[in-house]
Amino acid sequence: MAGQPSPIIAAMTCVCGAASGPLGECADHYYAILAEEQADPVMYRWHNPVVCAYLLQHPGDGHAQYLDVQFRWLQLLLDQGLDAMLRVQAHQIARNGHKARRSYDMAPFEKYAPLPQTVPGHFSASFSGLPVIDGSFVSDGHEAYGRRIEMIAEATVRAWTSS
Ligand SMILES: [Zn+2]
Repeated sequence: MAGQPSPIIAAMTCVCGAASGPLGECADHYYAILAEEQADPVMYRWHNPVVCAYLLQHPGDGHAQYLDVQFRWLQLLLDQGLDAMLRVQAHQIARNGHKARRSYDMAPFEKYAPLPQTVPGHFSASFSGLPVIDGSFVSDGHEAYGRRIEMIAEATVRAWTSS
């Protein structure tokens, strides 16, 4: 597909720069993940990276004031791993009760870079690139799914960092 840009492909490109995937745009994949993980507690372990990476790749779908902490969540994941991220999540929830999203203990995030100003136009891994087999994102196992989510997280942080 190298060479001439195709107007048909261009028309199907998501705001994040990704081409459509098996379910359509990234948003179609994102909402399908949110639905599937509701019934799968192991898959749900990656809920926070999924939300942070999706909103950092599609900032217009979320709230600008949360993007900085979402960027730091992904850096924490890549730096310390999923178990550490889940421990910080549990700490935030215990600290804030029902107001978990309103007031963060920023201490676990202080060593990470703040969100750069420029929104990237392309990411090397995207939600529309996730395989969906028999209607499932985890048909080849949760570890493989988790690696793909972490690749998207890594691509997201790298694109913002170099934007
Ligand atoms: Zn997209």
